[in-house]
Amino acid sequence: MTGLIYLVGAGPGDPELLTVKARRLLGEADVIVHDYLVPAEILALARPEAERIFVGKKGGGFCCPQSTIEETLIQLARLGKTVVRLKGGDPFVFGRGGEEAEALVAAGISFEIVPGVTSALAAGAYAGIPLTHRALSSAVVFLTGHEDPNKPGSNLRWEDYGPLQATLCVYMGMKNLETIARRLQDGGMPADTPVAVIQSATTGAHRQMLATLADIAQRAEREGFGAPAIVIIGAVAALSENLAWFATARPAELRS
Ligand code: SAH
Repeated sequence: MTGLIYLVGAGPGDPELLTVKARRLLGEADVIVHDYLVPAEILALARPEAERIFVGKKGGGFCCPQSTIEETLIQLARLGKTVVRLKGGDPFVFGRGGEEAEALVAAGISFEIVPGVTSALAAGAYAGIPLTHRALSSAVVFLTGHEDPNKPGSNLRWEDYGPLQATLCVYMGMKNLETIARRLQDGGMPADTPVAVIQSATTGAHRQMLATLADIAQRAEREGFGAPAIVIIGAVAALSENLAWFATARPAELRS
């Protein structure tokens, strides 16, 4: 009998933001296959005898090619195992969950998808930035900043997002932040547009900053901000000045 694969979102970091379903499945699985962004407290919810397989990729470097991850899942299912494939945030938002699901379908393996709190939502909530607001923003866009923005054939044309009246949430954007900010301005986004960077949102290492499109890249670098971080661009980002609750609730020595 072949096993079942669950592609499960682990949420942004705080173990309490795990779904009840994810928690139950973690307690039932024979094998946990996980990424580097999944915290130890969440992995600790697995049965002690469950096998744990780390297939993380960090900062563009990599441990396992995607094809190896897919092959591992298929082999485990053929051994009859119940597998939780645990990914940071949501498995279908910049998590390559789509590719893994396609590989499972091609191999005739049954699977289920369990959504997780994606980091843009968590970063907004914990930083005090409502991603939509009746007076300020009626649309939200999730983008990846990971692509080399200058590579020919890059499928993100940042200039196109300049005129958009929307909140932009950029995943994996720290390395290319300067280029992204410049290209949005080239596309017509005002230089004084508020921009927030939220690093390690919801965790003990949570930090956030607020600047403008004109100076965000320089200031984020000066203040040592880096991955994992979400960049939120748009008028709503400025609301964090009033609404930031998590960073201010934590003891001063832990704050940036
Ligand atoms: N599937 C994940 C995204 C994976 S891509 C999700 O739905 O959230 C990895 C990127 O997610 C990081 O580079 C960063 O941009 C973002 N990220 C993940 N965890 C984060 C956190 N706790 N705080 C801020 N950004 C985070």
